[in-house]
Amino acid sequence: TETPLIWIPRPVHGDALTLLREHADVRLGYGDEAVTFEEIADRVVGILLRTARVDGEMMRRAPALSIVARHGVGLDTVDLVTAGERGITVTTTPTANTRSVAEHTIALLLAVRRGIGIAVRGDGDVRAAVQGRELADSTLGLVGFGRIASTVARIARHGFGMRVLAFDPMRSADDIVADGAEPATLNRLLAASDAVSLHVPLTPETHRLIGLDELLTMPKGGVVVNTSRGGILDEDALLTALRRGHLAGAGLDVTVVEPLPADHPLRQEHSVIITPHVGAQTAEAMRRMAVDAANRIIEHLA
Ligand code: NAD
Repeated sequence: TETPLIWIPRPVHGDALTLLREHADVRLGYGDEAVTFEEIADRVVGILLRTARVDGEMMRRAPALSIVARHGVGLDTVDLVTAGERGITVTTTPTANTRSVAEHTIALLLAVRRGIGIAVRGDGDVRAAVQGRELADSTLGLVGFGRIASTVARIARHGFGMRVLAFDPMRSADDIVADGAEPATLNRLLAASDAVSLHVPLTPETHRLIGLDELLTMPKGGVVVNTSRGGILDEDALLTALRRGHLAGAGLDVTVVEPLPADHPLRQEHSVIITPHVGAQTAEAMRRMAVDAANRIIEHLA
């Protein structure tokens, strides 16, 4: 039988190419030997997709196409309806960036607890304005306790000696305990946590899950970290809680509008650290996403 043809439209980590070449005829959409989709459409079996699109028209022009392996988790670049109709498998790499996002969460947590935003951007007697707090013996509340949150819990407990509470009604209390946290209701978690970190998907239930009432339920001097999705944390409520002096700071990798405009009021708050949705952007996660996507293709071919 003929070696299956796999097309990779945009550059991915070299390890994925090496792996795929053991099983397939790999053609690239970039570089010296670049081939266009038109040139291979009649024979292509799989596409390893990073940032390009695969629309219904392309699927109809590719009779042998049977798998689109997404590098990452977003599926907005793939026509899932046409893929379903044509029996084309579509895969993602949901675990590839877990560790990276968890570490970024810890980076933001440390930064806000130590007043690094104030130290870096403040003027006047900045040194006097910084009064940090240690993580050791403080309580971390995790809202949503899936892959990223359980990794954060492990680092927080073993690395920093934090107490960890988790709210996740979709998981059993036993599961939460097994993954290293104490199960709690959202209210009890908020009331008991020096730091609250959000790790739920954005759904109608989680939209503005954390509003002013929730922030004011936290102890005075608490901090909030959000590396999940903008919109889960009400940004107006956050500003109010910060300006009233109730919260000591916030670390946000995600915001309702991305990138956050330069004149956004959250940027005026020196106790707020904002990163532009880079939680998953590490060399390790990029490699893992490519290799995981390549493995989905290899499994599919087998
Ligand atoms: P996951 O699916 O493993 O975990 C999500 C958890 O949230 C699940 O355990 C689920 O039961 C729980 N949950 C769902 N609805 C809930 C609710 N209403 N209340 C409480 N818990 C609820 O996902 P994950 O891989 O841990 O990712 C978590 C979040 O991180 C997602 O929103 C994802 O979009 C985001 N994320 C961000 C970045 C980044 O670059 N900053 C990268 C990857 C993922």
